[in-house]
Amino acid sequence: MRVKVSAPRHGDGREESLRVDLPTLTTVRHYRPGQERDELMAGVPQTTACDLLSGTRADPNAASLGLVEAHDIHLEVEPHGGWTTKQQRILDQWQSQPALPLEGAEHAEAPPLEAPPYKARYSYRCASPSCNGHRQGILDWELTALQRNAKADGAEPADWIRNQFGRKLLAANRRQFLSLGNQADAAKRTAFSVLSIYTPRTRTGPERSTPEPSRTAPSSNPRAPPSTSPPRTGRRGAS
Ligand SMILES: [Zn+2]
Repeated sequence: MRVKVSAPRHGDGREESLRVDLPTLTTVRHYRPGQERDELMAGVPQTTACDLLSGTRADPNAASLGLVEAHDIHLEVEPHGGWTTKQQRILDQWQSQPALPLEGAEHAEAPPLEAPPYKARYSYRCASPSCNGHRQGILDWELTALQRNAKADGAEPADWIRNQFGRKLLAANRRQFLSLGNQADAAKRTAFSVLSIYTPRTRTGPERSTPEPSRTAPSSNPRAPPSTSPPRTGRRGAS
């Protein structure tokens, strides 16, 4: 995509905090899931979670976004407990913004404002030789969308989370790359969260088959039901 950006408001000193001029958003090229996207992603510079953390400890305006490879990764799921007052206020502000003018109306399914039943975290080691491990919450909107779809199907959301964010994305024949980002609040910039997960298949690793060998996007797909559920087609509208 190509889009015009400008400096952030409110004196946010993080280099990556740019304001996006949405009407200028255009698609330059579409990369098909699989090899095309894998080759594109292979050119994205990587860092480590340890480096991101040490950077923000030294300077709150250090790199606030980064792609890191996770090793020995595990999923943890627990009841959500509801939004905090501050989170709810931020959500309210988001909802008052205009929808993204993306082709295909991808933004039509805006995240619901009610808290999802569960939250999830990944624990893992990054590529730093001295890494003692990380444990970071997953803020990927697909985690919320997946739970909404599970509830609409009368299924247990935690089962779907473990299936999609655990069994599928953490399969032995995939590598796990996490997009990490921190918060605007300068006092919390050393707390990074998982914004998205990219899981290309390994080319030389054991081809451990899963019940649903997928040719779809390497990222998680919230609309893919667990293999125990009947296949579903089409999109669900926002509830
Ligand atoms: Zn680390």
